[in-house]
Amino acid sequence: MYKKRDWSTVDVVEELSKITSEVHGRYQHEPEFLQAYDEVLETITPMLKKSPRYIPMFRIMSEPERIITFRVLWVDDDGELQMNRGYRVQFNSALGPYKGGLRLHPSVNLSILKFLGFEQILKNALTGLAMGGAKGGSDFDPKGKSDNEVRSFCQAFMTELYRHIGPDTDVPAGDIGVGGREIGFLYGQYRKLENGHHGVLTGKGMLYGGSLIRPEATGYGAVYFAQNLLGHLAYTGTGYIDDQERAVAASIKGKRCLVSGAGNAAQYTCEKLLELGAVVLTASDSNGTLFFKDGMTSKDLQAIMELKNEKRGRLSELTELDNAEYKPDCKPWGLVEKVNLAFPSATQNEINGEDAKHLIDATCCAIVEVANMPISAEARKEFKAHGVIICPGKAANCGGVAVSGLEMSQNAARTTWTREEVDGKLQEIMKNAFDHCLQAFQKYTEEPNSCDLEQGANIAGFIKVADAMHEQGLY
Ligand code: NDP
Repeated sequence: MYKKRDWSTVDVVEELSKITSEVHGRYQHEPEFLQAYDEVLETITPMLKKSPRYIPMFRIMSEPERIITFRVLWVDDDGELQMNRGYRVQFNSALGPYKGGLRLHPSVNLSILKFLGFEQILKNALTGLAMGGAKGGSDFDPKGKSDNEVRSFCQAFMTELYRHIGPDTDVPAGDIGVGGREIGFLYGQYRKLENGHHGVLTGKGMLYGGSLIRPEATGYGAVYFAQNLLGHLAYTGTGYIDDQERAVAASIKGKRCLVSGAGNAAQYTCEKLLELGAVVLTASDSNGTLFFKDGMTSKDLQAIMELKNEKRGRLSELTELDNAEYKPDCKPWGLVEKVNLAFPSATQNEINGEDAKHLIDATCCAIVEVANMPISAEARKEFKAHGVIICPGKAANCGGVAVSGLEMSQNAARTTWTREEVDGKLQEIMKNAFDHCLQAFQKYTEEPNSCDLEQGANIAGFIKVADAMHEQGLY
């Protein structure tokens, strides 16, 4: 048995700086992972000062339990052999089987997957469901590939991955570049190799074990999270003339919203915002932004969904929309003078310091991170300095993995819940996630009147995982 230290006598700042030098020294070539590590450490430090016994847990949690890398060989339409790298980072399984998406994008590397896996541990803890944290994927680029090539790649990828996953071990899902088509190809190959329906991927089609509301869950969940925030701000804030003014502030109806991305997360963020009467001003892809001066309509969104999900085209091709202007090489953040909420829904670090200044000038009150870590370290500082509230991805976008957890429960019970049942559970999970962030923040800081949800999310998620690790005999 190892000797336990007396943590009450430890110099917390010195100890954390030792751990951080170790992590930064070892992973200096992994900037995204270090960015996520630094952000989590900065926000949980007040809690570690109050309860230093958690320090070793943070050190242990910063190192993945296991990383699997493998070669993926597949054949393109010209009969040429192609090679990509595949990964699965199984970061932490204290709360349950590893759970987290697979990303297919040319930018994928270990630094990005480690940052995503690290965030996923805390995110899954915030859902209240029994899921550990993982992430995986490949530097394969599905853009411009035929269905045949994507199938060939997915089958080869799963032929390697299948031996490392299972319903009680690791249950992957989709992420950038992995939607219904890819999950179908991956699941078909897993089933063939395993000779059984083990439900080991989530985001499956409804015909073979998927859950209603799973495609919508990330975007819908983020909007539900924003509704909780607006309600909290309106009903704890001062300066309202009467109840009616307070009710208007609490409602998302009429709020001017910027959305980036045009994939799964962005589409259903827009859908829920439109359903609730918000004014959606933008959608984007990596080539440019569609700007809707008077707000996107449901018909516009339908056209975007058809273009992206069926034709797999670029937003620049949507020339038939009469109330939209396409702005090439342009991000959404600086396009309007007045914004209430921003929903970055594309990728990491998509809001830089300059973008943050635009949003601050446009009086944006909160950034709802639908994507994972969409705010650069510089932008984060700007927002904090100007009191812009950040709804951290690990809480605001946890609806996706939460409904994946519900899909696992339905598969295990061999049942299917209705749309209303799943949506009701999703709304409850998002409310709980918001409440946990707020309560953890209020408990561990001396600023009861402010609202740092990032700090709250990191503390609430971390304590849950650290306590589970402790109860299972780790320190
Ligand atoms: P999709 O592949 O469906 O869509 C991604 C969108 O982001 C596309 O519009 C894409 O444009 C754009 N994008 C990707 N990379 C870049 C880049 N480097 N610069 C600018 N735009 C880019 O992915 P999702 O919608 O599923 O994922 C979006 C974000 O949401 C990711 O951060 C993901 O981790 C996060 N997320 C997703 C969940 C889910 O359930 N899907 C769950 C939780 C988080 P283009 O087509 O031009 O590449």
